[in-house]
Amino acid sequence: MINLLPTGFVEQMKKLLPTDFEQFFTVLDTPPPVSIRYNPRKISFENLEHMPIKSQVPWHPYGYYLESRPSFTFDPLFHAGAYYVQEASSMFLHEVLKQTTPSDKPLRILDLCAAPGGKTTLIASWMPEGSLLIANEVIRSRVTTLKQNLLKWGNINVFTSNYDPETFLPLTGWFDVVVVDAPCSGEGLFRKNNQARQEWTTENIELCSARQRRILRIAQQLVATGGTLIYSTCTYNSSENEMNAKLLSAEDDLPTLPLKRYENWNIRSRQPGYQFYPHLVEGEGFYINAFRKAGRVRSNLKHKKEFYKLSYLNNKEKKAIAPWFAEPDNYSYLKDSEGNVYFFPKEHGSDLLILDYHLPVGVWLHDAGQLKGDKFIPAHTLAMVPSLTHVNSVELEESDALLYLKKELNQLPVHAPSGWLTANYKGIPLGWIRNMGSRFNNYYPSTLRILKEIKK
Ligand code: SAM
Repeated sequence: MINLLPTGFVEQMKKLLPTDFEQFFTVLDTPPPVSIRYNPRKISFENLEHMPIKSQVPWHPYGYYLESRPSFTFDPLFHAGAYYVQEASSMFLHEVLKQTTPSDKPLRILDLCAAPGGKTTLIASWMPEGSLLIANEVIRSRVTTLKQNLLKWGNINVFTSNYDPETFLPLTGWFDVVVVDAPCSGEGLFRKNNQARQEWTTENIELCSARQRRILRIAQQLVATGGTLIYSTCTYNSSENEMNAKLLSAEDDLPTLPLKRYENWNIRSRQPGYQFYPHLVEGEGFYINAFRKAGRVRSNLKHKKEFYKLSYLNNKEKKAIAPWFAEPDNYSYLKDSEGNVYFFPKEHGSDLLILDYHLPVGVWLHDAGQLKGDKFIPAHTLAMVPSLTHVNSVELEESDALLYLKKELNQLPVHAPSGWLTANYKGIPLGWIRNMGSRFNNYYPSTLRILKEIKK
């Protein structure tokens, strides 16, 4: 096995782990642990009874290891956004946030390298009530998955964007927390990914390291004084980890924050930072560090009153939409020239206008649906955000729920009410159905539909 690894990598790991490198190399040949983190706004631990739960992830209240890897595709709760399949070491971000960032007031948070959304969903489940989270991803093709994962997770105070980090510079000093889960050489995933092993070179590490420095230099400017910058990678080498951390502390005056860890967590210290090794923790390779921006000022930025290319709904239009929302007055509604309606919680109005003014095209607001005359077709979002609507629902058995998700369901249960319904599984909405009695329409988005054949 060791022979199949690049020599440079083997040498590096022997230096990093002089007494336990053999255990490290041995574990690279074992299957990776499987872990999930449930969505506390949709389910509780009891709803996971169908899962082969093994034990709790020590550093996350909603994180659990599984005995084996089930077929997540064929679990309707996975599509309902009831849990996220996430590698356990990464879940330590929760502990870092908890220890470094006060949670007694709403925060502005930027997740700068967000796709596919693992950390974003974790932050969304942690952040204080009333916070605003921007999930940004620079690579356009990765934004689709990010948006889909966030849509399923159903947090109405998370908004997505697609910019190079530099584009955020007009928002200097505006965020209380900036998370940089940086693109890296991926050494920590060698157990999962053979391809990554083949691609290891020192040149690539230096390239990654330089790219990370660029992102960090920008990211630290975006943090409000007194705020937190969190940097993580899924790699071991010092160029991408502590050397970048040291540069940031030295050049930009951002001291690192010490983190408390239980001894049996087996997380090693780096100078500075914290390292997860797969032979010491039940998880993959991961590095994380947190920094404090000195001082106590948050910048106040100006904004206009209107959103770019969008107009507020008139009273008649608002009236058509109001019955779809349990508390319609809590939201602002906008439309584009094609009748697509967007919405956001009113409490975020001025922050979203600031983002709209200082970023080329702002952030994506939430889809509410489509207004056609006085008729309204609700967007998938309205079904996925817990407690947003209070419409009727129909409960589906597992086999019907899977057919619904494949868009192949032919019949509704006889007791299904007529009109617009959410199709639920174990009480959790999967999406929309419109029941006209003799027939019904399945509004589950085609882009999300299960493509695999269901095993009988
Ligand atoms: N935070 C994600 C999660 O937990 O699911 C994983 C992020 S992944 C480690 C790093 C991300 O950075 C990738 O989505 C990648 O497309 C993005 N990225 C690549 N180059 C970048 C750059 N120059 N600036 C910012 N992000 C970049």
